[in-house]
Amino acid sequence: MGRYTGPSCRLCRRAGEKLFLKGDRCFTPRCAVERRHSPPGDQMNRRRRPSDYGVHLREKQKARQIYGVMEGQFRRYMTEAFNSPGITGVNLLRTLERRLDNIVYLLGFADSRKQARQMVMHGHFMVRGVKTDIPSFLVRAGDVISWKESTKNSDFFKERTDGIPKRPIPSWLSLDINEMSGEVVALPADEDLTQAINSRLIVEFYSR
Ligand code: SF4
Repeated sequence: MGRYTGPSCRLCRRAGEKLFLKGDRCFTPRCAVERRHSPPGDQMNRRRRPSDYGVHLREKQKARQIYGVMEGQFRRYMTEAFNSPGITGVNLLRTLERRLDNIVYLLGFADSRKQARQMVMHGHFMVRGVKTDIPSFLVRAGDVISWKESTKNSDFFKERTDGIPKRPIPSWLSLDINEMSGEVVALPADEDLTQAINSRLIVEFYSR
């Protein structure tokens, strides 16, 4: 299955909650979830109570949509999470957080993960001084994420870094304002992982 290219807000309305897929707009009254509380689709769908399977599936889809991960990749993350020591759901969320596009977003260089993904693919970033244009690249503790030197001379760089940090930066990352680079101080601890995703439901979905 290909990447979803439809309206982002429709995914939030389907999930029944904000997934913050559109950057600044998500924090304004123009947010579609705030304006319309009903899910997309016909009236019959709105009335149906979701089955157990539907609840588990919805949570998995929500996680995929928040991080912009395709089905096959998500399944691979899940397999790794099952095969790694520790709590499977925590392993999964930690892997999602470690994606390079997510780090670029969390550092405030992009307004949304979708935009961060595009910026990474366009080769604007280096990890430990090496150009890295793979959004799914998984960072490690100690990695430094910096802008490519040639991008630093562009208007785009000025536009993207003007006034940052625009959002609070998680404690496991640090931002060097002078160099406009970020460091992964440590991998995210359990308490750093998003509370918006119920990883238990996702693990149960894949354990069926
Ligand atoms: Fe979702 Fe953002 Fe659209 Fe609101 S504005 S529905 S949070 S993508």
